[in-house]
Amino acid sequence: MKAAFFDGPGRVVVREVSIPACPEGGLLTRVRLCAICGSDLRTLVYGPSDGSRIYGHESVLEVVEVGKGVRGFGVGDRVMLCPVTCGRCEMCRSSAHHLCLRKEQVRTSTQGGFAELVLIGAEALSGDFVIKIPDRLDDAGATVIEPLACVLNGNEKISTGPGKTVAIIGAGTVGNLHLQVAKLRGARAVIMVDLLAQRLAANTLFGPDVLVDASSSDPVGRVSEATGGGASVVIVACVSGKAQAQALQMAARQGEVLFFAALPGNSPGVPLNTNLIHYKELKVMGARSASRRHFDLALDLVMQGRVSVAPLITHILPLAEIAQGFELMRSGAAMRVALKP
Ligand SMILES: [Zn+2]
Ligand SMILES: [Zn+2]
Repeated sequence: MKAAFFDGPGRVVVREVSIPACPEGGLLTRVRLCAICGSDLRTLVYGPSDGSRIYGHESVLEVVEVGKGVRGFGVGDRVMLCPVTCGRCEMCRSSAHHLCLRKEQVRTSTQGGFAELVLIGAEALSGDFVIKIPDRLDDAGATVIEPLACVLNGNEKISTGPGKTVAIIGAGTVGNLHLQVAKLRGARAVIMVDLLAQRLAANTLFGPDVLVDASSSDPVGRVSEATGGGASVVIVACVSGKAQAQALQMAARQGEVLFFAALPGNSPGVPLNTNLIHYKELKVMGARSASRRHFDLALDLVMQGRVSVAPLITHILPLAEIAQGFELMRSGAAMRVALKP
């Protein structure tokens, strides 16, 4: 089968690899579609890249073979996979599955969706990490469930409800989903900040109150002006240390700051003015990934039509054109790219 590999900084290549065998208690699936996540782009550009690993976790899969002993799944079912975790560690036992202490070990039995086939191991089924996709949800829309689940995890940590002003730095898929969720929760005003005018414009139909082009204006000043002194909540949804530092400046007194996107793995981190945290009494938090329950909530919101996913997918390309897909994401020409093997 064909699969894509990160072959050094910024280089992605498609290679032929052997077809995985369907495991006992597991499933063999065909990739119908797999979207490129901002974290895939960050890993491709900055590393650290494991040249033997197949990335891609926003996939829609179709069962082509059912392993011995599997019940409840059949050939032709469309499914998606949540992060597979051990279910037994301290984090899993306290419902924070996405922070599982043994996640790396558990993950080895499956591979990513930038490929023709994906093997789902027995532990993914026994742990209830495989979700059937409802017929009414098309493949493109289904790829948005994973990022939405992550956004819902992040939103549990902050207060974006009535009376709150929310500034979101980064207007890609994740920034857009934060916008939609903040609106749904009743935020008074949502301000979107990005360096790419095209990206900002793509968000207009989702009702942001203010768009700030940080390439031509001072984002801190603009957010302060739009909110009367600072935003109640600032969400950093882009890979930028500068944005993290600006988020502390943009926040109102007693405001909340959520670092939603990671910096590159080899980044030494950024200097932050911690006096801002002290004098403004800020709460600074992080959020990553999502648990099964966030996936279920995400599916509910999309199926009820409360979060809109269809307009987000702007490009569907063949897997062979994955390098072009990454370039469209990097330049901001695409809001969201999905690959079809
Ligand atoms: Zn993702
Ligand atoms: Zn665990």
